[in-house]
Amino acid sequence: MRTFVVDHPLVAHKLTALRDKRTDSPTFRRLADELVTLLAYEATRDVRVEPVQVTTPVAKAAGVRLSRPVPLVVPVLRAGLGMLDGMTRLLPTAEVGFLGMVRDETSLTATAYANRLPDDLTGREIFVLDPMLATGGTLIATFELLVKRGAASITAICLLAAPEGLTRLDSAFADVQACRVTVICAAVDDRLTERGYITPGLGDAGDRLYGAL
Ligand code: URA
Repeated sequence: MRTFVVDHPLVAHKLTALRDKRTDSPTFRRLADELVTLLAYEATRDVRVEPVQVTTPVAKAAGVRLSRPVPLVVPVLRAGLGMLDGMTRLLPTAEVGFLGMVRDETSLTATAYANRLPDDLTGREIFVLDPMLATGGTLIATFELLVKRGAASITAICLLAAPEGLTRLDSAFADVQACRVTVICAAVDDRLTERGYITPGLGDAGDRLYGAL
């Protein structure tokens, strides 16, 4: 698994404001949106393109366009929804699928409760949106589902990651050859608390985006 921490002053600036407990929901949503666009720029560095020629007002020029099939963006509900606009701003022609994951608090395993994804993902490039890579359970279950359907590459875009979750994800997919797995995040924090929160973190991302239900 490849892991990239985006080292950029604007990313650090927006992340700092997101962490601040005084940041209200509307500001948090706007900052998360802007931050995702910056992370998406790095996450799409290897996106597949094919050569095309265009005619400018002056001459012919060689260029590229996104290869078909276009990338698939998959926000993991609920908090991943807060990252969707920031991602599709950069990739407006991408298709969007949805996945709702729920964790069994006893076994701590995650399963899908909602799934709007193509059955056949053979050869597809997929961008998974999930703001907090904490224990890694949700992303492991998500990636397993996508790999089973034939995905060729999966890139998770996260705001924050915990070392414990990155290690688990890395060992879960160490032997998977058919699919390239990548994680992009704005920072890797210190560790998880006993309650599974990333520390120092930013709290519950879903609650901060949409309010505590
Ligand atoms: N999910 C969150 O929203 N926050 C954490 O710190 C960990 C998981």
